[in-house]
Amino acid sequence: MHNWSDADAAVVALTRELVAIPSESGSSNTVICEHLQALLRQGGFEVEWLQYLDAARQPKVSIVARKGSGHGGAGFFSHIDTVPGQPAEWEPWNPVVKDGKIYGRASCDMKGPLAATIVAALRAKTLAKPVVIVITADEEVGFGGATQVAAESQLLKGNWPDMGVIAEPTRLIPVRAHKGACQITVTARGVAAHTSMDTGISATMLLAPLLAEITEYSRQFKKDRRFMDADFHPPTNGFNITINDGGCPANVTAAKTVVQFNFRTMPAVATALVKDHICARAQAHGFEVETGGWDAVDTPRSAPVIRLGEQLTGLDAATVPYGTDALVFQAHVPLLILGPGDIAQAHTIGEWVEIEQLQRAVPIYERFISAVCA
Ligand SMILES: [Zn+2]
Repeated sequence: MHNWSDADAAVVALTRELVAIPSESGSSNTVICEHLQALLRQGGFEVEWLQYLDAARQPKVSIVARKGSGHGGAGFFSHIDTVPGQPAEWEPWNPVVKDGKIYGRASCDMKGPLAATIVAALRAKTLAKPVVIVITADEEVGFGGATQVAAESQLLKGNWPDMGVIAEPTRLIPVRAHKGACQITVTARGVAAHTSMDTGISATMLLAPLLAEITEYSRQFKKDRRFMDADFHPPTNGFNITINDGGCPANVTAAKTVVQFNFRTMPAVATALVKDHICARAQAHGFEVETGGWDAVDTPRSAPVIRLGEQLTGLDAATVPYGTDALVFQAHVPLLILGPGDIAQAHTIGEWVEIEQLQRAVPIYERFISAVCA
């Protein structure tokens, strides 16, 4: 049982408890979500369980929890999925406390931050407006949980929080903006044949000229200011190409090859310029083209939620280069990104979070609740 009155001890205990239950994006997360559901119910939250089957037919759960009645209030948004634990390299699910740090997979990204929001929310006394906790699946692999929550949550429908915090690690610096994402998927179709017959058409070889063209085009992204936004570090779009021929063996021509062009979008860069060029070139080669993505998050410093974040921390709002569930939730609630821990630790072997960061986060979140829900 947790003793929520001792916030410093509670946030450490809860972080360790969550780290000890694996929840890699590649597997079902029902065990940890049952644990969180029970914890939040005991704390007086109404809990909604949202679930879908991912591409590998694994059940993926997201949780929406609300304490207190009325409209609006304060929301905290975290993801529960983690990158792979890599247990051959270390003990990812055996949380160790040492030298003022908690070691373990997702201690930083982002079970420690989630624990800090839960401790703050459970400690909140009777308020005029509710406190909402949203915990999503699959943030690391395409925002599937956030997408389901935004589309299907009955608790949130028509009653989103007035303001929200994405609790991703920012070293407790308030963050108002991050890059978005643009994906262009291009499919080429060939004819599969054993190379001993030499009658096939390789879909990969059909794509090769386009790949060469776009690789050449992409050299501008690191040179030409039109493709950069000086508000971000780095100011460039992180352009990448990935290719999937379905594991075609060397002695068979690929029947179908899918290429993904990915880049990060930024407010000061005309996304359409890049997107339209790549799509037009792919279509000129006769390939199938599909596009997707999310707009960058770009909340002005004058927005009340950002001003509140600056007030609570005494720091100016910054920008970060990585994406969060804010890409999906920004359409529904004004968001601030603010969490304990350093993103440099995220996804590393030997991942850790400083206990001092977690313990500083709890009273900041409590003051956020008081300011929004009073
Ligand atoms: Zn994260």
